[in-house]
Amino acid sequence: MSDSQTDSNEVREIRINPIVPSESVLVATARGMRPKKAEELAPRDTRKHVETCPFCRGNEHKTPPLILSWPEGGDWQIRMVENLYPVLGDDREQANFNFGLQQTIDGYGRHEVIIDHHEHGIAVHEMAESHLAALFGVYQMRMRQLFESDERLKYVLVFKNFGPAAGASIPHTHSQVIAMPVVPENVDAEVKNSAAHYAKHHHCIFCALIDEALTFEATIYDRNSGAVRRKINVGQYVVERGEKFIAIKPFASRYEWEVHILPLAHQADFLDVRAEDLADLARVMKRTMARLDAVIGGAQYNFFLHSVPHDSQRQAHAPSYHWHLEICPRTSIPTGFELGSGLFVNTINPEQAAERLRAVEL
Ligand SMILES: [Zn+2]
Ligand SMILES: [Zn+2]
Ligand SMILES: [Zn+2]
Repeated sequence: MSDSQTDSNEVREIRINPIVPSESVLVATARGMRPKKAEELAPRDTRKHVETCPFCRGNEHKTPPLILSWPEGGDWQIRMVENLYPVLGDDREQANFNFGLQQTIDGYGRHEVIIDHHEHGIAVHEMAESHLAALFGVYQMRMRQLFESDERLKYVLVFKNFGPAAGASIPHTHSQVIAMPVVPENVDAEVKNSAAHYAKHHHCIFCALIDEALTFEATIYDRNSGAVRRKINVGQYVVERGEKFIAIKPFASRYEWEVHILPLAHQADFLDVRAEDLADLARVMKRTMARLDAVIGGAQYNFFLHSVPHDSQRQAHAPSYHWHLEICPRTSIPTGFELGSGLFVNTINPEQAAERLRAVEL
């Protein structure tokens, strides 16, 4: 143990992301090391129904064209519509403007909105597990449909912005789906680095990190005989564990309350999660979000799904890549130091953050 971990639990160290080493985090818990301004907590809109909200029941005519709704008959629980202001558009011909070092590719793709729940201001941890399982099922179904609809689509990003600090422009709870002809750079970095790790060590680095989180043990010896009296599974990075899924606090967390959810058994593609396992994923998600909400109080966050890209390397990357959901609560605003250095600053020791999340009684 380095002297950076003193009795006062002060930590000041640069942690290298084990999956993407070029991404590092300065963990600095000392008072003077807080370069960030705390995000002001905007009160959450908890209303069940808002007359003027285009995403609320009864205002279906105010949304862009419907893609699907669940369940199909009767009152809908989840609805999917086209995005009114898509960042990527349909197949309109655009002239590529390539000049010297400035290259562009067509902004071709799809941008869609999923209204997560008919209740306007409901938070994820307040949704029923069966509802959340259905929502994950809708994500899966739409990803599959989009990949099958056009082979130029290489990646389908599913994400959610919740709260103004996380960039949500409409308060009604919703997620977004963006299908794109390129693999996002951060996913590409994870895919390439995990493939390189696999080539060298013959195992998936994500699986290794899960094993590490689970097998961290404390051994208690008998003072007199020296025999092992008890072993405790400390699991200091584990936040929540289900039968098939686990929520982990990353060792090199960029955000103070960042948590990742992964399948315990190796799986590269989110599309391969079996329908009967979605309930366990929903349970781990709901409990994780409830822990975050209890600790932060009205969490504003982004979450996004990272799954193996559907490009020509999809099969080759299946053994080395492991899909996951990254949850990034926004509790502070990045400062010039972070933007200028590219170094994330985390002012809470990830081990202590995990401990606080685990301590929440649900
Ligand atoms: Zn609404
Ligand atoms: Zn794995
Ligand atoms: Zn990721």
